[in-house]
Amino acid sequence: MKIGIFGGTFNPPHFGHLISASVVKEKLLLDKFFFVPAKIPPHKISTSIIDANLRVEMLKLAISKNQNFDINEIEITRKGISYTIDTLIFFEEKFPKSQLFLIIGMDNLFEIHLWKNVEKIFEIANIVVMNRANFSLPKDIDNKFLKQVQFVEIPNIEISSTEIRHRIKMNRSIKYFVPEAVEKFILKNNLYV
Ligand code: ATP
Repeated sequence: MKIGIFGGTFNPPHFGHLISASVVKEKLLLDKFFFVPAKIPPHKISTSIIDANLRVEMLKLAISKNQNFDINEIEITRKGISYTIDTLIFFEEKFPKSQLFLIIGMDNLFEIHLWKNVEKIFEIANIVVMNRANFSLPKDIDNKFLKQVQFVEIPNIEISSTEIRHRIKMNRSIKYFVPEAVEKFILKNNLYV
């Protein structure tokens, strides 16, 4: 079985996430696809990340109509800071004999050398890198990582959670940036204002 693992803060989830996930699942012929919301990514501590339960709630709304997508809350329920390596070990134990595909955006490739136990991450999972608007391949990336990652071409969608949070602060519309149910949830709960 081929399993896709798509980590992120999803603060909030948006159509960039959903379209990329859908295309990657299709292109890699994945049998299962998990969105794995992070509690607090180690490199994003102290930014405007809202409560994990609210992000999970929005993710549930975002994928509710797609039976191919699932959410795994391991990083939320686990104590302490969540590291990718621990998540992969969890999936390895949960789905023995499966092939794991860790899916990341091109922007994350810039930080790959900072990941805890990066060598082990590459042993356990196939690392799949999606192109992202405004991010090109980092020039100084270590060749040993580059040789081991697999690139998957997705449509360039210039949406980020940062931009959505910014739009809300500026009182601009987020219609068509996020699924309607997510938009309603954000407005109803006065998130990111
Ligand atoms: P923020 O703006 O808050 O940093 P983000 O929009 O980058 O958030 P994350 O939840 O951090 O969203 O992203 C999770 C994963 O999805 C990352 O690997 C990121 O590279 C990827 N991703 C997010 N948006 C896009 C997009 N529009 N196109 C391609 N990949 C994306």
